[in-house]
Amino acid sequence: MTIGVDDDESAFSRLEDNKGLAESWLRICGRLKGEVGEVEYRTWLTQIALGPIDGDEITLLLPTRFLRDWVRSQYGDRLNELWHNEIPSIRRVELQVARPGDPAPLPVTEVAAAPASAAPLPTEDNSPASRPVAEVRSDLVTALDSRFTFDTFVVGKPNEFAYACARRVAEKPSSVGFNPLFLYGGVGLGKTHLMHAIGAELVKSGNVSVAYMSAEKFMYRFIAAIRSQSTIEFKEQLRSVDVLMIDDLQFLIGKDNTQEEFFHTFNALVDAGRQIVVSADKSPSDLSGLEDRLRTRLGCGMVADIHATTFELRISILEAKAAASGVVVPAKVLEFLAHKITSNVRELEGALNRLIAHANLFGRPVTLEATQDVLHDILKAHDRRVTIEEIQKKVAEHWNIRLTDMSSARRARNVARPRQVAMYLAKQLTSRSLPEIGRKFGNRDHTTVMHAVNRVTELMERDAAFAEDVELMRRMLES
Ligand code: ADP
Ligand code: MG
Repeated sequence: MTIGVDDDESAFSRLEDNKGLAESWLRICGRLKGEVGEVEYRTWLTQIALGPIDGDEITLLLPTRFLRDWVRSQYGDRLNELWHNEIPSIRRVELQVARPGDPAPLPVTEVAAAPASAAPLPTEDNSPASRPVAEVRSDLVTALDSRFTFDTFVVGKPNEFAYACARRVAEKPSSVGFNPLFLYGGVGLGKTHLMHAIGAELVKSGNVSVAYMSAEKFMYRFIAAIRSQSTIEFKEQLRSVDVLMIDDLQFLIGKDNTQEEFFHTFNALVDAGRQIVVSADKSPSDLSGLEDRLRTRLGCGMVADIHATTFELRISILEAKAAASGVVVPAKVLEFLAHKITSNVRELEGALNRLIAHANLFGRPVTLEATQDVLHDILKAHDRRVTIEEIQKKVAEHWNIRLTDMSSARRARNVARPRQVAMYLAKQLTSRSLPEIGRKFGNRDHTTVMHAVNRVTELMERDAAFAEDVELMRRMLES
């Protein structure tokens, strides 16, 4: 069975009417403006020009590389969604730097309609001659994602401490010992989710002003304030909030001026008894490149680590998300996913969402077979982590044979058996074909590999100690 990712594409008619494009773009701009607010919209989005459409891809043009990168990182996903909603056949928005002769931005806003007062944008060269941007009188509160609440956060061993700390801060901001709250952990493990949950809880509880933004956004807002000579306002705004949350602080490494500004804001807020919540990918002491005094202060409150997920947590998360979706996903499929996708929750969630979308779209039950089909590319990407060379090396070490014996012609049992195990693991853990695997083992025939796979499977069934050994190898290689 093939449920190709793009099978449904033919269901959508190709876009023929290019005149409609400008109207779509107008509507999208309107939406964006509503979502991000006037200032942000004017600062970053008014200079996007509509480029050509090619199949399922539409090109948008920006005047500088700086702007293109910024728009891509901040609004890329949203632009994709909005375009897709507007014109279903569009699957991708490509952002490019405009070249001379490319179309100009549409006059879609009152800013563009009155070019004299249009807010010029920061240019790439950063030169002092750059024109000032629009006044930064921004709403400091980046919209909190309503999906990220404490209710939807699944708690397990790896995150229970961070969760408890986040709960505590949401209940009693600025408690001694919890200020700042410093959450750290690898990518996709729930830092942003917890921060939004704190924010949502505080906003719900009443009269608390919460500002949440990524460190990157903090920097860009700071730069924009400098350019428009409104740093004082910027500072005042920041210092007037009850709770300031800055996400992904590691972004400030090497950005000395922004760090300095953050340090002062930080001190002013903590001294005034306000709560700070910060996230980063490393602990304060490991964030080398951050100024010492800032690191010291960051470590002064509560430092909570979110550890890599365990199999149990991955299962719980999948169960919760599957239940919330209303689609029945068999336990076998959940286990398969929890086994295969160990990197982080974001990828796990992405995989499950794709399965659910397919189930809904085609009205077919989720099976293990369909899962392998639908998630083919994701699973392959994860397989690629383990190479045949790594497998050979680990197996050779474990059974104490020479690495060269993996491809040698020696047939002594003490060499041949580990070699067979390595072939077996190569088949299990990589997406290589039998002939490809054979080639890596001294140009052996694919039937030799097949024989090895069968032989090891057989032996594992008969010999529990051997099976345990092989399983151990597999787990070591997978982690
Ligand atoms: P980080 O900020 O650490 O990179 P995120 O908070 O963005 O990670 O989490 C990535 C995705 O995984 C989000 O969609 C989030 O809702 C989800 N997620 C992470 N941890 C959990 C959890 N414990 N329970 C439920 N969802 C989670
Ligand atoms: Mg994050």
